[in-house]
Amino acid sequence: MNEVSRQVRTSRPSAPHEPERQAAEYAVLAEIGRIISSTLNIDEIYEQFAHQVSLLIPFDRLSISAVDMDAHTVQAVYAVGGDIPGWERGVVHDIVPGGISDILERDRRGILFRTPAEEEEAGHQPARELGGDFQTRIAVPLIAHGVFVGTLNIRSLQPYAYDESQLAQAERIGAQIAGTIANAFAYEKLEAAQHALENAVSELRRSNQELEQFAYVASHDLQEPLRKIASFCNLLESRYADTLDERGGVYLHYIVDGAMRMQALVNDLLLYSRVATRGQEFAPTDTNDMLQEALANLDVAVAECNACVTSDPLPTVNGDAAQLVRLLQNLVGNAIKYRGEAPPEVHVGAVREGDAWVFSVQDNGIGIAPQYAERIFVIFQRLHTREEYGGTGIGLSVCKKIVERHGGRIWVESQEGAGATFRFTLPRMPE
Ligand code: ADP
Repeated sequence: MNEVSRQVRTSRPSAPHEPERQAAEYAVLAEIGRIISSTLNIDEIYEQFAHQVSLLIPFDRLSISAVDMDAHTVQAVYAVGGDIPGWERGVVHDIVPGGISDILERDRRGILFRTPAEEEEAGHQPARELGGDFQTRIAVPLIAHGVFVGTLNIRSLQPYAYDESQLAQAERIGAQIAGTIANAFAYEKLEAAQHALENAVSELRRSNQELEQFAYVASHDLQEPLRKIASFCNLLESRYADTLDERGGVYLHYIVDGAMRMQALVNDLLLYSRVATRGQEFAPTDTNDMLQEALANLDVAVAECNACVTSDPLPTVNGDAAQLVRLLQNLVGNAIKYRGEAPPEVHVGAVREGDAWVFSVQDNGIGIAPQYAERIFVIFQRLHTREEYGGTGIGLSVCKKIVERHGGRIWVESQEGAGATFRFTLPRMPE
């Protein structure tokens, strides 16, 4: 511990203050209490606080520093009066071992420096501890709920400006304000974290948009050359199949197959990126009509496997009609595609839950093992080979995108071999 402060401590009298001094201190403490509860503006609190302290302990500089013991840093958050170069508001310093913050955190009681000469005698660096031209300093720890959160520093240009009774007063004042200051620091940290989060979110949004735009442009521009490859390969296959030997024919078949697959992928990618980039404005939309349109688009598949699709009366929602058709079409289409042995039975329903409609598309198909329930909504993720079931693995990611664009969420409830129920929510329209 600092020699000077130890000296001061041992000589601190325990005798009561004279009545006027005590009365003045009570008045100041009460006023500080009032200030704390009267405003949420921390700068206003600091200013009024400094004024109150000056009534009791005249100073040439008062400063409050925030200490972050995790980061091992100290930072002036408020200062009034004479400057100390390098200790302007906002400048962050590392806590030096044996420095004031370090000692205050360890001893948890105030320190008094009465004059540079005494300090030098004690082997300290007066210029550093007192700061600039200051001759006397009181430094007290601010402790809130047992945590050392900062320091209150009162300085004078006069030597021997303060004695131990003022040190004790400063400690009591520090105790009075510590909680409020700790809250302000915590709030500032929270605000900074929130700000960083907001920045990260907007950066993510921007890069997502860029990616979507890229996916759109790439898939759009890839369509034409791919179409050319596919159609000329087809021509080659139909006109020159005779002139190729067996191996040549197989190679050509692979080329045609590859080109067609790539076309399907590119088309689906375009569809996916269009959800965000080419969506229509929302309007009241009757989802019964959207389901009928989706079923009309699926009529060949429905007829082919004798599927039975039933539905409850469905609500009108605020949405993009074309996208809602696509959503229902993908889900009912999958319900038919991933059928089991029995003819597919698909039921579309909707129930009200709070501010949302929860739609369901239930089937009696092959089902999905619960561990894949999240993965299937990720673009290009499939649980089957192309030989088992055709597809590009993009349908459900399009569904997810559409639902999220409408402010809802989508999930699946299923067991392998026991059918699947896909549910999604859409906000209810105001009555
Ligand atoms: P695709 O059908 O092209 O593979 P999707 O994104 O539509 O792509 O589906 C992803 C995966 O989710 C499918 O490969 C399939 O394994 C599974 N799946 C989707 N719908 C169902 C369903 N109704 N029943 C069982 N499995 C399904």
